[in-house]
Formats: sequence, structure tokens, C-alpha cells
Amino acid sequence: MNILISNDDGIHARGLRALADALSSLGEVWVVAPDREHSGASHSLTLNRPLRVTKVGPTWYTVDGTPTDCIALAVKGTMIKRRFDLVASGINLGANMGDDVTYSGTVSAAFEATLLGLPAFAISVAARRRADFTAARQVAVLLARLIEKNGLPADTLLNVNVPDLRASEIRGIAITHQGRRRYGEIIVRKVDPRGKAYYWIGGKKPSWEPSEESDFAAVTAGFISVTPLHLDLTNPTALRELRRWEFPWDARDEAGDSPWSPRRARGNRSSTD
Ligand code: MN
Repeated sequence: MNILISNDDGIHARGLRALADALSSLGEVWVVAPDREHSGASHSLTLNRPLRVTKVGPTWYTVDGTPTDCIALAVKGTMIKRRFDLVASGINLGANMGDDVTYSGTVSAAFEATLLGLPAFAISVAARRRADFTAARQVAVLLARLIEKNGLPADTLLNVNVPDLRASEIRGIAITHQGRRRYGEIIVRKVDPRGKAYYWIGGKKPSWEPSEESDFAAVTAGFISVTPLHLDLTNPTALRELRRWEFPWDARDEAGDSPWSPRRARGNRSSTD
């Protein structure tokens, strides 16, 4: 198996090495990771400047870009002439659950791999500073084997969250849905040495909506959470609802009021008034 590994904590992160070590038991491992931390980078792609790649080991590379850049370069660039069988992202220090997956560079690296047609999973440990990666390493190997055997459903990646527990304390693996976080981000305001205000986002421990089969519930109860995430963000219930709405379209090519101007939108008037 040719395995590609990336992360959003950067090339020096302990979790990256732990994942590479663990999966090297299954095949050849290639690492392409950002040269610094990009937590919260989401699915951003660098388009306004060139990217530099530095080879730091026989199969290890850093990129001065985002996790998504790393996957795009590793898969579509010319530096590694391999067809990857699996892409794994992590092991992230900090959980990536519920609505927070949209901020996550770790999940986005797996997302990018899925867009490029490769089976992928993202793996995170629900610890803030120091983490014991033993359980995460074990589940990464297990998942890689299962994905090799079964493949993954189309357009789907796996988002894995491991409780901050010893492997022997973990109660099992739960297949979960993405939970709902309760909005509670703290914006800290402070003053810099020159007397100017600055702001810093974050800091509060997340809380979430109670839901028995969510990622949050599983990890809190001591289970490893495995959530299948779909690339298609369409809400099927809302799709049906919106199709019952009326969307009058004032089709005109000449200059004048836009059909979306407040005056026109208010009355839904026809083009002849
Ligand atoms: Mn991170």
C-alpha cells in the first residue's frame, strides 16, 4: 500500500510522526505536511503566491502552504511519482467534532484527498496539550486495513476522534453522526505594549447539543468516534422545502435596476410595471 500522510499541526508535530510510524507497518508511507501549524486553516488553497516544497527526508516533504495545498501537491504535483492507495491526516492534537469540522485543516486534508478520488480519513485526539497517541495509532492501523479491504462509500471520508484515555480505558469504537456544537466562542480583548487593542478568538471548552449517537457523545462516553462525512453539503430536507418556494425571475438583459434590488424584490412585480 502507498500511503500519503499530512496534518495541520505542521511537520514537527508529534502526532504526524506517530501516524507515519503506525502506518509504516502496512506499506510505504509518504509525508507531505505544512512547514508550520495551520490549525483552523479549513479547506483553504493558496492561489496568490507560489508554493515551495522542501525535501526533509527520503519520503518526507514540507510545503510552505496549507494542508489542502500539501495534498494537492502530493497527489497532482510531480515530486512523488506514486498512485496513493490511502490518505491519512493527523494525528491532530485537539478534537475535530461537530460543526468544528468546517474549521479543521486536519479534516480538510482528508476532504481534499476525497475530492481527488482517494480513500481518506482524518484522525484527532481529544487532548489539548500532551496526548498519548497509543489508541489513535491502533485505530489508524485498524481503519487503514478495513479501508484496504472494503473501500469507502463514494465521496465519503472518515473523521475519527479518539478520547484522551489510555488504550486500555477505551470502551470501543462507535459509528457516529456529526454533532451540533453550542455557540460559545470567546473573543478575548487585550492591549498590546504600544497601547493598541488586539483580539484573540477561542479559549472556551466547547459544549454541544445532547444527541446520543453524535461524535461528542461517543468521545465523552469513552468511545473512539468514527463519523462518515459526505462531500455533498446539500441539505435534502431543505432542498424539498425550497423547491416549493416561488422564485420569480425578471429576465432582462438591458441595463437598469437589478432584479435583486430591494424595490423590485419587495413586490415580486413583473417586468412590465
Ligand atoms: Mn491542528
